[in-house]
Amino acid sequence: MSASHISQGTVFLQSTNFIDAAYIVAFSLLIYGMTGLTGPRTAVRGNKIAAVGMAVAVVATLLRQHEFSGSGTVWLILLGVVIGTAIGVPAALKVRMTAMPQMVAIFNGVGGGAVALIAWVEFRHGFVPTTHPLAPGGYPLRVEIFELFGAIVGSVSFWGSNIAFGKLQEILPGKPIKLPGQSLINLALLTVAVASAVILCAGSHSQALFILGILVAAAVLGNMVVLPIGGADMPVVISLLNACTGLSAAATGLALGNPVMIVAGMIVGASGTILTNQMATAMNRTVPSIIAGGFGGAVAAPVGGAGTEGGTVRSTSAQDVAIQLSYARLVVIAPGYGMAVAQAQHAVRELERALEAKGVEVKYAIHPVAGRMPGHMNVLLAEADVPYDLLREMDDINPEFPRTDVTLVIGANDVTNPAANTDPGSPIYGMPILEVDKSAAVVVLKRSMASGFAGIDNPLFYDPKTSLLFGDAKASVTEITAEVQAL
Ligand code: NDP
Repeated sequence: MSASHISQGTVFLQSTNFIDAAYIVAFSLLIYGMTGLTGPRTAVRGNKIAAVGMAVAVVATLLRQHEFSGSGTVWLILLGVVIGTAIGVPAALKVRMTAMPQMVAIFNGVGGGAVALIAWVEFRHGFVPTTHPLAPGGYPLRVEIFELFGAIVGSVSFWGSNIAFGKLQEILPGKPIKLPGQSLINLALLTVAVASAVILCAGSHSQALFILGILVAAAVLGNMVVLPIGGADMPVVISLLNACTGLSAAATGLALGNPVMIVAGMIVGASGTILTNQMATAMNRTVPSIIAGGFGGAVAAPVGGAGTEGGTVRSTSAQDVAIQLSYARLVVIAPGYGMAVAQAQHAVRELERALEAKGVEVKYAIHPVAGRMPGHMNVLLAEADVPYDLLREMDDINPEFPRTDVTLVIGANDVTNPAANTDPGSPIYGMPILEVDKSAAVVVLKRSMASGFAGIDNPLFYDPKTSLLFGDAKASVTEITAEVQAL
């Protein structure tokens, strides 16, 4: 191949048409991959397809960058890719399933921070102050608006996600930290950030001062908004921050004319918003009330320790549970965070098989916020090859509890707490729950009388038809299975 052929090929690869086509391929793969995420069987393949889409987008961006600025910045981008890969891949491989929400929080935060930095750099790049109020800089006004929107929202998302990470990782106290007049302080910070952006767009010459004003106000706002979050509202906040990162990326994509950032950002923004709404509903919070009220500051701090109800609990043995289950017609398994901690999903699948071999019908009750991330239980049970048609969403299983002989609650607590239906004073009052207390008998597997994530007592444990089998969920389930098989 001659030198002129190579040079023509290089020109073609860097042409705007080729780069645009690569971007279209990239976001088509992203969207197609995401359709696979609707079910556990297709999720891994979907994820891989989306990852290929992201790789195509990175290559297209490198070519585009080369076209605009030569090879100097391309090497800087490649260095960033290498550093990001070196940190991200081992972290993702090592992370435990139970620590996944922290990981989502930190990755989301990094995304928001990157958007804020890009917006900042681009703004400085294109800013040439003039006295004309409608054309103040080198970029048109609409581009600046998108950039500054990205800077504010991305920065809030970065700092807010860091706090969410700290709380979930227990580096920061989990209980709400709230200042007097918190909502007014938040409003003042937002006003400073937006006012600085408006002044910049209007053509101020004190560029550095107002950019700094935006970044500092948005950073403090991000911290202030998330610090008051207590207990059970945390997942809603992570999902909301995720939606914010998506919107800020889309806005920056509009400013830069980058189609992949626009499409991917809008997908994240839209899906994050839908998920936030669904989770808020599942936890009995409205999104506006969460924002106005400092993200669930009313939720009680964890009390932990022994039961505060003062009632009597009935403890049982693996042998008795095995007899109860083996002579039942319908057994419902309600898993929760404790199943994830104990990694009991494979043992649970074995128990289900042993019961089915005895002619017992077994179903799984899945609460939308059981565990520590949306879909946590679905992922674990899919990993253990539990047939998907045995899984019942909360709304489908609740009418079945009155005809259930035994419900086996495995490491679930808050999502089964009847106080959500009966006690108006409870912090989780109104949260839809798995109504396991309506079944004929309930067996709860847990290690102690400690509370769950919301830090509140659970009257289910003191119900006369409930018995508790204390111990690690995996060990208890394995023991019950052995007893069932021996019967
Ligand atoms: P909970 O946190 O309410 O309860 C988990 C229970 O598991 C505890 O009572 C604990 O009791 C028990 N447990 C822990 N480890 C083990 C073990 N090794 N073996 C046996 N039992 C164990 O979990 P739920 O799933 O019921 O509820 C989820 C909570 O988390 C809700 O409040 C939800 O709002 C919140 N949340 C949900 C998120 C999501 O998106 N799914 C994200 C973040 C929070 P003991 O220590 O006595 O064993």
